[in-house]
Amino acid sequence: MSMQEAYFETLMNAAVDPIIVIDQNGRIEIFNKAAEEVFGYAASEILGENVSRLMPEPDRSAHDQYLINYHTSRNPRIIGVGREVVGLHKNGMKFPALMSVGEVAGETPRFIGIMRDLSEHQRLEREVREMQSELAHATRLSELGEMTAGIAHEVNQPLTAISTYANACHRMLTNEQFDATELLNTLHLITDQAQRAGEVVRRLRAFTKKRSSQRQLLEINTIIDTTNRLVEADIRARNFNLRKKLTPALPRVFVDNIQIQQVVLNLIRNAMDAMESAPARENVVTIESNLDDDNCVRVSVSDQGTGLTEDIAEKIFDSFFTTKATGTGLGLSISRSIITAHGGILNYSHNQEDGVTFYFTLPVTIENKNEDS
Ligand code: ADP
Repeated sequence: MSMQEAYFETLMNAAVDPIIVIDQNGRIEIFNKAAEEVFGYAASEILGENVSRLMPEPDRSAHDQYLINYHTSRNPRIIGVGREVVGLHKNGMKFPALMSVGEVAGETPRFIGIMRDLSEHQRLEREVREMQSELAHATRLSELGEMTAGIAHEVNQPLTAISTYANACHRMLTNEQFDATELLNTLHLITDQAQRAGEVVRRLRAFTKKRSSQRQLLEINTIIDTTNRLVEADIRARNFNLRKKLTPALPRVFVDNIQIQQVVLNLIRNAMDAMESAPARENVVTIESNLDDDNCVRVSVSDQGTGLTEDIAEKIFDSFFTTKATGTGLGLSISRSIITAHGGILNYSHNQEDGVTFYFTLPVTIENKNEDS
């Protein structure tokens, strides 16, 4: 072997990718180390053989014809193009590879093929796909878990209220001089609460049928008023007042009515809870609506309660974080998911004096603007 030949062989064998050179009839002339590893043949076994041995059908039978066609038409099928092919290992296993073929000019043409084994690449791709689908499954499960716990939380509230009101009715009726109007009012409250629980369950059904929420163009002030009616009894029973500062004629928002009610309800209840465990100056929860600088409708609920220390504030949006004996720690995390799904923001700010203000925004939609103009 001449020095040049030895140098050439060293180069070939140093290449990481399989390199195969064939003559114009498809006979293998060069088969480097990497090719030996990938195909399982020793060069000595395969040199002089037809390259079609390295490919499965249908290419195997057609390969000679490919070469003849190229000689006559010069129309390349693979030469100079490079494409994904299937290789055949000595042990019969097929594997995917990327193949680029060049023509070596000379008296008798030769072809040099450089391959890249794609098995590893495809295995990685498959693993990534599997991981993605597992992740999606886990996300769905945790969403479902969070939602179920959320539903339990939301149904539990009206059920507790119903039981309280039913007890009150019972007490009134055992008192001979009961006030019929008061009794009727309390029965109305029971109906309201039962409807609210029913609505939550209906939403769950809707969710399992179709995962999208039902959105409509609605006035935020109407949603706030409806929510007020739902918590009115609760507010009075706990000796609170709700102060409303609603900006009239706000542009409407495209929202799921029930979900936004749920958010407002959570914020009002949290505000009352925070004030019950703090010596508040006034038992007043203030709810405001207005339009912010980003063309979003903004609803704020402020209290004069305990406020938020830094270590608590960090965790309040985590699912299951609660500082209350009977809390679920889901109110704020679910509320935030709802508002985020609506394209808005839910956050809080510390009040100048006592307590905090929780607020959320809802973008004013383009359709809305068109409709108003
Ligand atoms: P839960 O009300 O069941 O505890 P939330 O997710 O609604 O669940 O609230 C999580 C925690 O955030 C509460 O336990 C409380 O510590 C804190 N928090 C929420 N709202 C307020 C508020 N207005 N003032 C002070 N702390 C609050």
